[in-house]
Amino acid sequence: MSTLTELYQEIALCRQCEIAKNRTKVVPGEGAEDAGLLFIGEAPGWHEDQQGRPFVGPAGQYLDELLTSINLKRQQVYIANVIKCRPPQNRDPLPVEISNCRKWLDRQIELIRPRIIVTLGRYSMARFFPGKTISKIHGTAEKREDILYYAMYHPAAALHQHSLRQTIEADMIRIPSLLAQVESIPEDKPPSQQLKMFEV
Ligand code: URA
Repeated sequence: MSTLTELYQEIALCRQCEIAKNRTKVVPGEGAEDAGLLFIGEAPGWHEDQQGRPFVGPAGQYLDELLTSINLKRQQVYIANVIKCRPPQNRDPLPVEISNCRKWLDRQIELIRPRIIVTLGRYSMARFFPGKTISKIHGTAEKREDILYYAMYHPAAALHQHSLRQTIEADMIRIPSLLAQVESIPEDKPPSQQLKMFEV
């Protein structure tokens, strides 16, 4: 059994949050264990909760289309969420749920070691680009400790707000060239070092 499959079994036993009581299935994530690209969404919705798989509802169908636009199938990438259980009525994840689930996402990242992490939507962005605003940073990337973080709108946002479709599609199209160049992209300086540079 792979270490990632063992991790899924651990996640399935997790009952740390209230919402675990009402889940049909836990949704740990799925995809290639050696994926270069890791997409991280927000939380499972109704369809995902029924099937135990991420992004299988309307937003997932759109994500599949976006992947096709860059000649990728979902089996070639890895898809996960910030939290692994469906919040009731699809409400936003609570800070306590995000913090309880953090260890699972951390372990997934350690095991997969992706070259690029694509954050889908605000909650995923907040985890990797704290304090930033999606409308300002979508389509931009930052490299830290050998991983390039790339922020995108959530596919569901583009389904609800038609004007975002062009934006999300344009941001997706940039991914293959980022992947091709990722080794040569310089690391972003941690904020403490950036400050020092201004001080001299
Ligand atoms: N939205 C998400 O953020 N994740 C899913 O798995 C499905 C919809």
